[in-house]
Amino acid sequence: AKWVYTFGDGRAEGQSSMRNLLGGKGANLAEMSNLGLPVPPGFTITTEVCTYYYDHGNQYPPELEGEVAAALEAVGTLTGRRFGDATLPLLVSVRSGARASMPGMMDTVLNLGLNDATVEALAKDAGDPRFAYDSYRRFITMYSNVVLGVEHHTFEEALEHYKDSKGLTLDTELSADDWKHLIGQYKAIVKRELGEDFPQDPQAQLWGAIGAVFGSWMNPRANKYRELHNIPASWGTAVNVQAMVFGNMGETSATGVAFTRNPSTGEKALYGEFLINAQGEDVVAGIRTPQDITEAARIESGSDKPSMERAMPEAYGELVRIYGLLEQHYRDMQDMEFTVEKGKLWMLQTRNGKRTAKAALRIAVELAGEGLITHREAVGRVEPASLDQLLHPTIDPKAERKVIATGLPASPGAASGEIVFNSEEAEAARKAGRKVILVRIETSPEDIHGMHAAEGILTTRGGMTSHAAVVARGMGKPCVSGAGSIRVDYAARTLTVGGVSLKAGERITIDGANGQVIQGEVAMLEPELSGDFATLMVWADEVRTMKVRTNAETPKDARAARNYGAEGIGLCRTEHMFFEGNRITAVREMILADDAEGRRAALAKLLPYQRQDFVELFTIMSGLPVTIRLLDPPLHEFLPKPEEVEAFAAETGLPADKLRSRMNELHESNPMLGFRGCRLAILYPEIAEMQARAIFEAAVEAGKTTGAPIIPEVMVPLVFTRAELDLVKARIDAMAAAVAEETGTRVEYQVGTMIELPRAALKAADIAGSAEFFSFGTNDLTQTTLGISRDDAGTFLGTYTKKGILPADPFVSIDQEGVGELVKLAAERGRGVRAGLKLGICGEHGGDPDSVAFCQEVGLDYVSCSPFRVPIARLAAAQAAL
Ligand code: ADP
Ligand code: MG
Ligand code: MG
Repeated sequence: AKWVYTFGDGRAEGQSSMRNLLGGKGANLAEMSNLGLPVPPGFTITTEVCTYYYDHGNQYPPELEGEVAAALEAVGTLTGRRFGDATLPLLVSVRSGARASMPGMMDTVLNLGLNDATVEALAKDAGDPRFAYDSYRRFITMYSNVVLGVEHHTFEEALEHYKDSKGLTLDTELSADDWKHLIGQYKAIVKRELGEDFPQDPQAQLWGAIGAVFGSWMNPRANKYRELHNIPASWGTAVNVQAMVFGNMGETSATGVAFTRNPSTGEKALYGEFLINAQGEDVVAGIRTPQDITEAARIESGSDKPSMERAMPEAYGELVRIYGLLEQHYRDMQDMEFTVEKGKLWMLQTRNGKRTAKAALRIAVELAGEGLITHREAVGRVEPASLDQLLHPTIDPKAERKVIATGLPASPGAASGEIVFNSEEAEAARKAGRKVILVRIETSPEDIHGMHAAEGILTTRGGMTSHAAVVARGMGKPCVSGAGSIRVDYAARTLTVGGVSLKAGERITIDGANGQVIQGEVAMLEPELSGDFATLMVWADEVRTMKVRTNAETPKDARAARNYGAEGIGLCRTEHMFFEGNRITAVREMILADDAEGRRAALAKLLPYQRQDFVELFTIMSGLPVTIRLLDPPLHEFLPKPEEVEAFAAETGLPADKLRSRMNELHESNPMLGFRGCRLAILYPEIAEMQARAIFEAAVEAGKTTGAPIIPEVMVPLVFTRAELDLVKARIDAMAAAVAEETGTRVEYQVGTMIELPRAALKAADIAGSAEFFSFGTNDLTQTTLGISRDDAGTFLGTYTKKGILPADPFVSIDQEGVGELVKLAAERGRGVRAGLKLGICGEHGGDPDSVAFCQEVGLDYVSCSPFRVPIARLAAAQAAL
């Protein structure tokens, strides 16, 4: 095997398609080099070395040392330097880089190769001792921290102390001698902390750093991140070793990060931050406030520091040229890292930039508009689940806001919640069902779980590219970063700003759209679904082959779903209608009745309500199919709670004793598997008859007013054998005939069944003899196939997914291997008997993108999901059809 791939000087042994082997960073460094862009030369140690390392008890492949030496030699030739040389030393950075960019991996070490001898050579060669010692002190702190594990603050304290003693405030005010002095202190700190001298041998430094990168692949932070993002440990990380270019060589040098389009809004404009006379980590660390890249951005931000466009026009011009080229080449928005050394621009990284859902939409639509990608590609560019962000509320502009501070609008959307100051509390509050805003001075990878648990994140330090901002955008959580006027006191658990002091547990609102921090809760507005959203949805609908329906029973939900593009109702749960207003009284009378006569009398009171419900739904969904499920839950769910019995008895005049005894009779130890579903219709056919009458009468009535044909689909729940369906269907058909007779209008209708029990799936061929459609009720089908009650699964399911026993929560994403197998089998067997059998899914899974893709594979006609997930399902269905 070949373990090392070189790049630089307009060529490379790798390319961007080799990301699995070279990691994302290495593959793109190679690609940029191949494109002839100015990339400092270097080489990538492959991810296979990482895998080898862990498979062989932390040993490297025997050829590695030779390959690294040769590659280092080649880099030296290109730069006219040699690693460890006492006159013209080559300095390198050591950078980790997995296939997917991954927080938790080892931080980059810069300026590696410096020691007491090479630092003198560097000073002489550059003619700038201050620069050389500045680089050396950076190297000692970084290496000691990242590779040797000495706490960063130990060095920080020494530095602060020194600055105080000299009356200095900024690092840039320190002279060569100052740094020299501090380097002596730093070395003493290392000796004190580790009992050993700071390594002077460049080879030892290099291999120490390489080992630290591979070691970091299995550290707890990286493991946690992989667990959260389903990244297999077997992927491994690559190591990039690259010749240094220096952004800290004075006023003509700088370092920065830039996006080719705005990652928050998607606007087509170079966007980013840079710092003069600085090295990489300074921008992200928030030690100094970064400057704007373009003059337009500077004017907008009102910064008094010059933009890169003004301060370094040539390097800026080069950046503009390169960013255009990179976008054309990658055909996507790029996130770039660069350094300017004495006026010359060097590219250090590019990748497809992370972006908010709003930006993703706009960028996809605009790239298609520019002809860079097709409509189909645009459809594939937006993560369906991320649309959720756009469907979230924003602050009502008319609402009064008590703004206590303003930070940076780091990730859009607004959120309210109780203040918590650490991730543990955020997680605990979330578990207790409370909404929180995580407030931190700044976040680090250790806060990922807290950020997950919070509604939104507020930091007092850090820019638009700080950890909090980047991670929040990725998660789709609102974030305000760098609200510098707020003082956070972790110990006292308070935040203070102006005259206001707020304690943990008090409520705040953050507005990620403008960076505002607001005291208390504020009224929110529903999102707007026009513009880019609408455009992309049209393109998605052009690609899509499955229909998307909604689960809805109220006019409000049905209307919302139609707005979101639902193509009918896939599940109307009639029992929800039984709780409305005073209907529940009639329902209870029906349940308490001694015989069919009594039940009929009570049901007759319900009929007009039920009919009116259906008229409204049919009218809203006019021209679209509406699937109505007959009463499903066990009857005791409609009875009063034990403590309400007396009041209910008094109100209705029903005897309390009788109520209690009927409640006892109906009690079930396992209601999920009890007297429910079609079992109700078989024992009490009059319930199904009332519902069928309401459906058909409503169809006649709505048909008259809307003029469009109404095609009700009557759905029988919890069937496990054809005989059940036949019995209920006979009643429905009879009622349809009766209503046609009475009204003189025949409505077209279908009768079908849910497939939500394993036996029903197995007997699908039989059942399809009577059913005109199947709707997979995958909630119950999951419960009954896995033998897991959804309500009780919380205690152990988490462990199951963590241990990899199940790949995902089967109630969120369909268990494709098990439940999915039953769906497939039922679809095949059903269609084998009835070619045109209509197939749909109405479980929670209908709005889960992975499950939607599975439905496409099985050949379902439609998915049905809750109204707010309809756009997600539309896009997911389109992507499944790509
Ligand atoms: P991360 O993955 O955390 O972004 P990188 O490996 O990209 O880490 O390094 C962070 C920063 O370090 C870069 O953005 C760049 O500014 C600086 N850096 C890395 N390698 C070099 C180099 N060879 N020369 C100069 N600066 C570098
Ligand atoms: Mg980087
Ligand atoms: Mg069910």
